[in-house]
Amino acid sequence: MLAESESNPTQTTEARPRSGSLARRLVLATLAFCILFTLATVTVRTWFAWNTNLANMTAELSLIDQVFQGTLSKAVWEMDSEALQAQIDSVATAAPVGRVELRILRPGRSPEVVERQHAGHAGSVLAPALRRQLTVSPYAGASEVVGELTIEGDESLLWKRLWKEVGIIMLTQIIQSLALAGLIMGMFNRSVTLHVRRIARHLEQLTPQNLKTHLSLERRGKAGDELDLLEAGVNDLQDKLANHLERQARDEIALAASRDQLAELVEQRTAQLKAANIRLEALTRFDPLTGLANRRHFDELKELEFNRALRHGLPFSVLMCDVDFFKLYNDTHGHAMGDQCLREVALTMSALFSRSGELVARLGGEEFAVLLPGQDATQALASAERLRGLLVDRQLPHGASPVSPFVTLSVGVAELDTTAMERFDQLLQSADRALYRAKSQGRNRCEI
Ligand code: GH3
Ligand code: MG
Ligand code: MG
Repeated sequence: MLAESESNPTQTTEARPRSGSLARRLVLATLAFCILFTLATVTVRTWFAWNTNLANMTAELSLIDQVFQGTLSKAVWEMDSEALQAQIDSVATAAPVGRVELRILRPGRSPEVVERQHAGHAGSVLAPALRRQLTVSPYAGASEVVGELTIEGDESLLWKRLWKEVGIIMLTQIIQSLALAGLIMGMFNRSVTLHVRRIARHLEQLTPQNLKTHLSLERRGKAGDELDLLEAGVNDLQDKLANHLERQARDEIALAASRDQLAELVEQRTAQLKAANIRLEALTRFDPLTGLANRRHFDELKELEFNRALRHGLPFSVLMCDVDFFKLYNDTHGHAMGDQCLREVALTMSALFSRSGELVARLGGEEFAVLLPGQDATQALASAERLRGLLVDRQLPHGASPVSPFVTLSVGVAELDTTAMERFDQLLQSADRALYRAKSQGRNRCEI
C-alpha cells in the first residue's frame, strides 16, 4: 500500500474532492447558524423597535395635544371659526398626525365635526390615537366641556420608521455573521486544516525506507493539543514499524542461514544414509566373514540362472563344496584360525570362478555352493577338480585331518537335467547327494 502511494503521490492528493475540506464544512455550518441567528435577532429587535416607535408616536401626539389643547378650547368657546380652522390645519400638518377630528358640542344642538387628514391616509389600525375632551373655565371654579378632540397617529409613518430601522438591524447582523464565519474559517484553516494536510502528505510519502523521517508540523511552541498528540502518535507508530521491519529483516537473514545449515545437514545425513544403505545392502547380500554372496543372494540368483538355462536350453551345473574335517581344524588351530581358513578357501574359489554368471556363495558354516551357467557335468567336474587342486596347492596346514596335512575340499557336482528337473532345489539336492558320496568315499575328492 505504501509502495502504491509512493509510485504516484500527487495523483492521490489531486483526486481528493475539495468539498471534503473540514474548514469549508465548518464555515457552511457557521453561516447556516448565523442566518438562523440573524433571523431570530432581527425578529426580536424589530419587535422592540416597533414598540419603541409606538411609544415615541404616542409621546409626540401628547405633545401636540398639549400645545394645541388650550388655544383650540378657546377658539371653540369664542366660536372663532377662522382661528379654529387655522389651528386644526396646523395640527393636521404635524408629521406624526394621520388624522385629526374635532367634535364641537353645543347645548341643544347636534355636534359639529371638523376633520383633517394627511393625503393618502386610509385610516389607522395599529397607530396610536389620542382622544380628549376640550374644556374651558368661564369663571373660577367652573369647567365646561366644549368639544372632543381625536388625534390619530400616521400608520404609514410608523411603518416607514420601522423599515428603516429593520434595514439597519439586518445590515449590522449580516456584517457580524460574515465577520464571524470568516474569522472561524481563517483560524480553523491556520490551526487545523494546514496541519492535517501536511500529515496526509507525510503519510502518503511514507515508504519502508524513509520510516525514520519523522513528521514535523513546525508549529510555534508546543501547544500540547490534539495535533501534538497526533504528531507524536504518528512518529511513535513509524518508530515501531521501522523496528518491526528491522527485526523482520534480521529474522529473515537468520532464517535463511539456518535454512542453508539445515540443507547442508540434510545433505550430509542423506550421504551418510546412502552409505549406510549401501553397507546394509552389502550386509543383506554378502557374507561378512568371506565377502562372498550369502544364502539370501544365492537364492535370488539361483532361480534366475536356472530359468535362463531352461529358456535357452543351455547347460547349467552346480557345485556343492565342504571343507573336510573343519570341526577338527577349529579344535586344533582355534576358531580365529578357522575363520582365516574359511577366508582363504573363499579367496581360492572366487579367484577361480569369476566369469560372468558364475556365482560363489557361502551357504553356512564351511559349506559353499557354486553356480556354473554354460557348463555341463564334465566341464563342471573339471572345474571342481581345478578348485580342489588349487586349494591343495595353497597348502593350508591342517594338523588334524586324517586325509591330508593340508586343508582339503570335498565337492559334489550336478548338471541340470531338463527332462527330470523342474526346480532348482532338485539340482541342488543332486549336487548335495554327490557331495555326500565324495565324503563317504574318503573326502578330498569330487564326485558327480
Ligand atoms: P566333515 O568332514 O564330515 O564335513 O566334518 P566337519 O567337521 O567338517 O563338519 P561338521 O559339520 O561336523 O562341523 C562343522 C564345523 O564348522 C562346526 C563349526 O564349529 C564350524 N564352523 C561353522 N561356522 C564357522 C565359522 O564361521 N568359523 C569357524 N571358525 N568355524 C565354523
Ligand atoms: Mg559340513
Ligand atoms: Mg566339513
